[in-house]
Amino acid sequence: MLHSLCTNLRPIKTLPPTEFALFLHKFSTNNTMQFSKPIRAETTVHQVPGFCSEEIDRIAEQTFRRYTAESLPKRKGKGVAIVWFRNDLRVLDNEALLMAWVSSEAVLPVYCVDPRLFSTTRYFGFPKTGGLRAQFLIECLADLKKNLMKLGLDLLIQNGKPEEILPSLAKAYGVHTVYAQKETCSEELNVERLVSKSLQKVVLSSSKGQSVKPNSTNSTKLELIWGSSMYHIDDLPFSCNSLPDVYTQFRKSVESKSKVRSCIKIPTSLGPAPSIKDWGCIPEITVLGLEKAKVGKGLAFVGGESAAVSRVCEYFWTKNLLRTYKETRNGMLGPDYSTKFSPWLASGSLSPRFIYEEVKRFERERESNDSTYWVLFELIWRDYFRFLSIKQGNSIFHAGGPRKVEANWSQNPTLFDAWRNGQTGYPLIDANMKELLTTGFMSNRGRQIVCSFLVRDMNIDWRMGAEWFETCLLDYDPCSNYGNWTYGAGVGNDPREDRYFSIPKQAQNYDPEGEFVAYWLPQLRVLPKEKRHFPGLLYIKPVVALKFGNTKTTNNKTMGSGTRTTADENRWKGRKGNRTQ
Ligand code: FAD
Repeated sequence: MLHSLCTNLRPIKTLPPTEFALFLHKFSTNNTMQFSKPIRAETTVHQVPGFCSEEIDRIAEQTFRRYTAESLPKRKGKGVAIVWFRNDLRVLDNEALLMAWVSSEAVLPVYCVDPRLFSTTRYFGFPKTGGLRAQFLIECLADLKKNLMKLGLDLLIQNGKPEEILPSLAKAYGVHTVYAQKETCSEELNVERLVSKSLQKVVLSSSKGQSVKPNSTNSTKLELIWGSSMYHIDDLPFSCNSLPDVYTQFRKSVESKSKVRSCIKIPTSLGPAPSIKDWGCIPEITVLGLEKAKVGKGLAFVGGESAAVSRVCEYFWTKNLLRTYKETRNGMLGPDYSTKFSPWLASGSLSPRFIYEEVKRFERERESNDSTYWVLFELIWRDYFRFLSIKQGNSIFHAGGPRKVEANWSQNPTLFDAWRNGQTGYPLIDANMKELLTTGFMSNRGRQIVCSFLVRDMNIDWRMGAEWFETCLLDYDPCSNYGNWTYGAGVGNDPREDRYFSIPKQAQNYDPEGEFVAYWLPQLRVLPKEKRHFPGLLYIKPVVALKFGNTKTTNNKTMGSGTRTTADENRWKGRKGNRTQ
C-alpha cells in the first residue's frame, strides 16, 4: 500500500536535549506567575512534507505507477510537438503533455525563465518574485526534469521570453504545435498573445525540404489547454461571463450540475525526445537576481511534484489528518492544522483533480465526514476565484475592485513598512507577517486578519498588501490572491463578505494561549499567556489604534466585550450587512 511507505513527520532542527531540558526547567520552576511551558516547536524547522528525499521519491514513483495508463489513445501524430510548461509543473494529470505526446513522434518539453517574472510588481515596485518562491520554483523545475527523464524525455530550460524562445525552437525542430496550459489573467494572457503571434510567423519547411510561405496550415500553432481547476471550464453549468456573484450559488450549482473529470493518465514512456545537445541547466537563484534564501524557522516547503504527492500522502494517509481538517483548518501554528497544498497547486505541481480523487479514495477506504468534504469545499473557492478572474478581468487589480468602490486609501510608507516588517505593535499581526517573511507562508486565518488590519485599521491601499503578498507568498496565484484581497478590502463581488476582523476576538478564538505569537515573537514567551497578545509597555508601541477596540484594557477576559464591530459602525451610519469576525 502506498501509505505504508509514509512515516511520521520529523522536525529537522531542534534544540539539543540538554539545552531543551534546561529551558523547560527554568520555566517550570517559576511558580510566582502562570507561565506556560515553552513548546519544543519554537526552535524547529518543519519540512513539508516531513519525509526524507528517498521516501519522497518512492511515494512519487508509486503514485505515478497508479496513474500510468493501461490503454491509451493511439500515438498517431507526426513530427515534433513542444509542451511549454508554465504554471503546470507536473507530469501527472497534465493534458497538455499528453496532447503533445499523442500528436507527435517526439515531444520537446520546454520551460522559459521569463525575466518578467523577476521584475517588479505593477503599482508599488516590489520584487515580483521573492527569494523563497524563486527557490521553490527552482526545486519544482529540478523535480520536473527528473520525472520527465524517467519517462524518456528531458526538460529544456532557456532564459528569456517565451515569445522569442518558442518560435526559434519551433523553427529549429520543425515543431507543428506548441501545447500549453491556458491562463486567465492579463500578464499571462499577454504572453499567450505574443507567443501565438510570433509562432504564426514561423515558416515550417515542407517535407521535401523546400521552404514555403507561412499560412494557417503550415506555421506552428499554439494550443492552449485548460488544466488548472478542479472543475473543468467546459463543464460549468454557465459561461464565465454569467458566473454567480455569490460563492455559495456557484458551489451549489457546480456540485449539482457538474462532475469532476478523472485525472489524465500517463503512458509508461513519453519518449523519444528530439536529439538536443544542450538541455540547459536549472537556474541558480543568483542568476535570477535574487539572494539564496533559507528558511530558519517554521515551515520549509519542498518544491516539486514528488514532494506534492508526498504531502497528500502524509496529510491524508500517514497522519490521517483529513478526518479532522474541518476542526483544525483555522489554526495558525505548525504543519498539520491544514493541508498546505497551496504552494504546489499554485505552481501546478499538484493537480486539484488528483486531490479530489484521493479524497474520494479516503472516503471509500477510511471515512467520509464533514472534514473530507471540506477540503473539496475549499478547492471550489480556488476554482471560483479562477473563473471570477475571467469574468472580472483587470478590475481585480484596480483600487476600486470589481465593484468600482471609491475610497480614500492612504499609502503611508511608515505604516506600510511597520505592517510588512511585522512591527505594528500588535503581536497577532506582527507574528503573522514575520512568518510570511521567514517562510513564504501564512495561514488562511492569518491572511484574513492582516488584510483586515491593513485596510480597516490602517486604512492603507489594499493593493500594497496584495502586491506584498505577491512578492512573498510561495503559493502566490493572481486569481486567489487578488480575489481574496478584493473580498477582504470590501471591493470584491460579494458585499456580504465585507468583514472586520477584530484582533482581540481573533486572538481569543484562534490563539488563546498566545503560543503562535510567542513562537514568532520569542520575547513574548516569558510573559504570562494572558498578556502575550496585549503586552502593553513590554512590547512595541502600537502604530495605530484599533478602529473598534481598546487595546489598553484588553486581555483574555475582556477581549470580546472591549470590541466594537463593523456592525456597530454600520448602525451609526444607518447601513447594515457587514460582519465582524
Ligand atoms: P487549506 O485550508 O488546506 O485548503 C485547501 C486548499 O483550498 C488550499 O490549498 C487552496 O488551494 C484552497 N483554498 C482554501 N482557502 C482558499 C481561499 N480563501 N481562496 C482560494 N483558495 C482557497 N491562496 C492561494 O493559493 N494563493 C494566494 O495567492 C492566496 N492569497 C490570499 C490572500 C488573502 C488576503 C487571503 C485571505 C487568502 C489568500 N489565499 C491564497 C487563500 C488561502 O489563504 C490559502 O489558499 C490557504 O491558506 C493555503 O493553505 P492550505 O493549502 O493549507 O489551505
